[in-house]
Amino acid sequence: MEKTTSDVADFEPPSTCRIRGASGLKKCEDDFSQEKNETPRFKKAKIVNIRKVPGLTDFRSSSRASAFRKRFFPDVTQTQWNDWHWQLRNRITHLRDLQRIITLSEDEIQAISHPENLFPVAITPYYASLLARNNPTQPLRRTVIPVTAEQLRTQGEAEDPLDEETDSPVPGLVHRYPDRVLFLTTGICSTYCRYCTRSRAVGHKSSTSFNTSQIEGAIRYIEKNPSVRDVLISGGDPLTLSDEKLAWLLSRLRRIPHVELLRIGTKAPVVLPQRISPALTQLLKRYHPLWMSIHFTHPDELTPETAQACKRLADAGIPLGSQTVLLKGINDDVDVMKRLVHGLLQIRVKPYYLYQCDPILGSAHFRTPVEKGLEIIKGLRGHTTGYAVPTYVIDAPGGGGKIPLLPEYVVGREGEDLLLRNYKGLQYRYPDPVQSGGLSDRCEGLLRLPEDRPCFGREEIKITAG
Ligand code: SF4
Repeated sequence: MEKTTSDVADFEPPSTCRIRGASGLKKCEDDFSQEKNETPRFKKAKIVNIRKVPGLTDFRSSSRASAFRKRFFPDVTQTQWNDWHWQLRNRITHLRDLQRIITLSEDEIQAISHPENLFPVAITPYYASLLARNNPTQPLRRTVIPVTAEQLRTQGEAEDPLDEETDSPVPGLVHRYPDRVLFLTTGICSTYCRYCTRSRAVGHKSSTSFNTSQIEGAIRYIEKNPSVRDVLISGGDPLTLSDEKLAWLLSRLRRIPHVELLRIGTKAPVVLPQRISPALTQLLKRYHPLWMSIHFTHPDELTPETAQACKRLADAGIPLGSQTVLLKGINDDVDVMKRLVHGLLQIRVKPYYLYQCDPILGSAHFRTPVEKGLEIIKGLRGHTTGYAVPTYVIDAPGGGGKIPLLPEYVVGREGEDLLLRNYKGLQYRYPDPVQSGGLSDRCEGLLRLPEDRPCFGREEIKITAG
């Protein structure tokens, strides 16, 4: 682990950013817009001035993004476009700006204009360049532009379906599992996903505030709990914080002796790849072991820009995993998911989790039957590289945590053999004597082979219910 005195130097805490209804949101948004010009308030932050390192500032734009910039932002230079501060300051948040670049459907216009549209719209100009101008059903467009179906409420939906508030010992921290915590460091994302599990706390809700004393309180909780060996820094998107704030936060956490592992959960490499600057990667590599979970949704997000961002992170020694939410009509298809996971491996990102969509308010139009997720895993496992297969999980409503789901590969037991089904649907047996000398209660009711059909080794067998 790289850990030097300078890494753990004291920094001043981040400035206050409270989310209090509409005016609070404005304050947070202002926090962004001032960030580029703000006078750094972090006395000892050792941020590498990467502009002095030749050849490290280049960020190549794809021809698609360049054409989009020239058409819709003709006065903006390539350098400005590739400045993540510019991307944040110029997020598309209003109907009139969206209409300038996209032909919105009546339903989309109605949804955006709805007075009860509580979850705000924000899209970086870069991500907007990936949206289909004339097709409201395009997968990426559906993830960021609201439709009126968001206003429908169906059975089982809740504002906080995972009951995170109950497992929150101090504001901004969720301690659900024994050895790790979720640290909610900001309520801001550069682009808002319409199916966001944390939409109650992200973007604009009045019930949550993120501020210095809250962050200090969460750090104190971690310091006092030696069982916490793993801290997942999330939000919102922590990579919307400035380098100085991140350095302060990471250095404070790294100073805690029992914290072995730091993780960052982010969608920045996908929606704001310019954020992954050489300065950021220089900063992050000082706090290893540091892992990163990146929120990918669809293979159309695998652009040259995202590939550059992931290369920079991987070259900085940060192991990268992807987290994908299964979404109806967006990625609920074996071929789409195969394209995504194959593309991820090519940019050195391990598909980590495939999440069943959480039943947040107004999410029915995004949710698939669980069977669909199992079908996708079945279509991947054995049919492609094992590294490409994510773990399919349901985050149990009510705070039960992640529960993994697998297609049925264990068929049952016969005598001392375990009966298994492979990826082609063929059945095999594995010698697995029951230690107690007989079938346990657990095995009762399992499927058995007909007595006249002995089966050996890899021979295909037929199973009947017994
Ligand atoms: S990036 Fe994550 S936290 Fe932000 S809106 Fe999307 S799902 Fe929610």
